[in-house]
Amino acid sequence: GPAPEADSAAREWLARHDNRFGHFIDGKFKPLKEGEGFDTFEPATGKILARIANGTATDVDEAVAAARAAQEPWAKLSGHGRARHLYALARMVQRHGRLLAVLEAIDNGKPVRETRDIDVPLVARHFYHHAGWAQLQDAEFAGYSPLGVVGQIIPWNFPLLMLAWKIAPALALGNTVVLKPAEYTSLTALLFAELATEAGLPAGVLNVVTGGGETGEAIVDHPGIDKIAFTGSTEVGRRIRERTAGSGKRLTLELGGKSPFIVFEDADLDAAVEGVVDAIWFNQGQVCCAGSRILVQEGIAPIFLSRLKKRMETLRVGQPLDKAIDMGAIVDPVQLARIRELVELGVKEGATLFQTEAGVPETGSFFPPTLLTDVHPAATVAREEIFGPVAVAMTFRTPDEAVMLANNSRYGLAASIWSETIGLALDIAPKLAAGVVWVNATNLFDAGVGFGGYRESGFGREGGREGAYEYLKADAWAKRKPREEL
Ligand code: NAD
Repeated sequence: GPAPEADSAAREWLARHDNRFGHFIDGKFKPLKEGEGFDTFEPATGKILARIANGTATDVDEAVAAARAAQEPWAKLSGHGRARHLYALARMVQRHGRLLAVLEAIDNGKPVRETRDIDVPLVARHFYHHAGWAQLQDAEFAGYSPLGVVGQIIPWNFPLLMLAWKIAPALALGNTVVLKPAEYTSLTALLFAELATEAGLPAGVLNVVTGGGETGEAIVDHPGIDKIAFTGSTEVGRRIRERTAGSGKRLTLELGGKSPFIVFEDADLDAAVEGVVDAIWFNQGQVCCAGSRILVQEGIAPIFLSRLKKRMETLRVGQPLDKAIDMGAIVDPVQLARIRELVELGVKEGATLFQTEAGVPETGSFFPPTLLTDVHPAATVAREEIFGPVAVAMTFRTPDEAVMLANNSRYGLAASIWSETIGLALDIAPKLAAGVVWVNATNLFDAGVGFGGYRESGFGREGGREGAYEYLKADAWAKRKPREEL
């Protein structure tokens, strides 16, 4: 069962702040006045966790001013100087790994086993990796300069990891940041900012403004911001693209997905079953690149699906701090209701529903691992992102048909191919409209590899060299070079 002492450090941190958090601007928390802000809840219990500030245009203004004042000195530090700060952030994440992992599990509802073994290590790796780019900036990006102040808006599914994907490249390459975490999961961003300041990050380099969509819009509209980097839903991404049109702001969008998980008849079926578990039940399926569309070759469909159902029987849904569970809570009752509605619609549209008998905790926002079979490719659940622990399964006959079905989507974020014939996998991979294709694997992330989508999954890449260019502009070379040398 959950170890009661495990979350004490996180609860102590909350208590130290009286469970009330203003924005983190210019190296310190702003006071949250009586009657201001909104409550944030613990998904596994429904209890109030803290009260946090709801950012207004004035708050955003203040954060942008702090980021602007900090930007020139930050950019003027040598690449080596900035690298030292990024290394310090990486070590800080490792040093406070347990506190960050527990707070993330409490705030988001995801299993602490995952935050401890996946989220937090990936966050540290992202800062280590980008410390390297800072160090190499002069050699690798001669003639490029930072964009300036960037506004970054992130979702709730990987609060800390999305923060790292956003701020590590921005800071490494000389930009300063106004970051808005998702309203459901703001706490680890606030803790991170506090710890970063203790670790020596200069005031104003990272500012955190909390709030919902209106706060996001104030960031998007602010004339003092040079770039918007957004991760979230395709719907909001589209709105941001419209709002920034003609503003001169740079923009990158990391949006939704409905990624195919293709199982050929010669696949290692046990490995592929484990792959599905990782693809759609990791993080309760709240993963942008989740393998949510299982495409299985007709001849092996019955045996594959029956093995998958058997494996589903062993998945345990429970309290996030219980290390024996596989799935935690859904982030918010609103998301839970949306998942329920889509599954009901799937059944109405002809799908066969499979859920295990194991059950879920009675209080809190939980949803069991779910499989929909006999799904028509035109059905809503085959097209729409559910963003929950729900896989839909369809069959195909030939590799060509697999490609056609896989690409029959408005999204293009990721794909996963399962086959023991490497020639087949390598033939299929480039035919898929997906920003990342995994072969006999799924949900692998590397700080050195650009991640991002095609189509309505957005544009721009995060990670690696491509990700670094998203935070640079190519105008400094001509400016720096004396005229006579041109
Ligand atoms: P969301 O679009 O509702 O919210 C994302 C962020 O945008 C939040 O911080 C929210 O407060 C803010 N926001 C909401 N309305 C806004 C507006 N009008 N203007 C500016 N900001 C606004 O998405 P979500 O429900 O938090 O996240 C789930 C979505 O994120 C899924 O579609 C998922 O696929 C996607 N996602 C994509 C990636 C990727 O890398 N492609 C990664 C993770 C999640």
